[in-house]
Amino acid sequence: MLQNIQGIGMTSMRTRERMVERLEQQGIKNHKILDVMRTTPRHLFVDEALASRAYEDTALPIGYNQTISQPYIVAKMTELLLEAGPLSKVLEIGTGCGYQTAILGQLVDHVYTVERIQPLQKKAKNLVWSLQIKNISYLYSDGGWGWVDHAPYDGIMVTAAPPEIPEMLLRQMAPGGVMLIPIGRAGGQELQRVRHTEAGFEVEVLEPVSFVPFLSGKQ
Ligand code: SAH
Repeated sequence: MLQNIQGIGMTSMRTRERMVERLEQQGIKNHKILDVMRTTPRHLFVDEALASRAYEDTALPIGYNQTISQPYIVAKMTELLLEAGPLSKVLEIGTGCGYQTAILGQLVDHVYTVERIQPLQKKAKNLVWSLQIKNISYLYSDGGWGWVDHAPYDGIMVTAAPPEIPEMLLRQMAPGGVMLIPIGRAGGQELQRVRHTEAGFEVEVLEPVSFVPFLSGKQ
């Protein structure tokens, strides 16, 4: 049994290392991000039946019609979010299985994460805590409202795609803050980076992406 567990551990270490090499080939340069993705056990965030595919560069189902984002997108969005330097308070919309939450938690001071499907968030919370990542606050709510109590945020990361940027999220950005958000409908989404500057909100259109839709209300 022990041998079995160690066997699985070895395999996932090797496959994780390969995933990180692939991320570097895909242009990810931030070593802190590559390091946390190397040490975070992504296979624990997907169903056991899919664990062997956890390190492939693909999105996978996590139940409730939702998906865990592909490793490249997690790395890229995190890199773009942190490009101007370290962040203290980050708001994440769409906890999902908690993988992106766990990555962010190891790179910033505190993560506030909002999810509209309660059982998904409960599972994520237990798993992330069990990995000793404890600088996270969880809220079961429609993320379209943000999380006013802790605003403003230096960084906002949205992991589901609304048709346009929710105004409440713009209002919760600190001056100098940055937001990464996929915008658009299935088949035609683009990643956008918004900066809150003295001149107002500057929007940069980045690459085409494919996220689950941003839905209103709680499920
Ligand atoms: N970052 C997640 C991605 C999960 S998929 C991960 O790594 O697993 C996107 C998540 O956004 C889903 O769990 C979905 O339920 C959630 N979501 C969609 N619209 C939302 C909203 N308005 N408020 C909060 N969460 C939302």
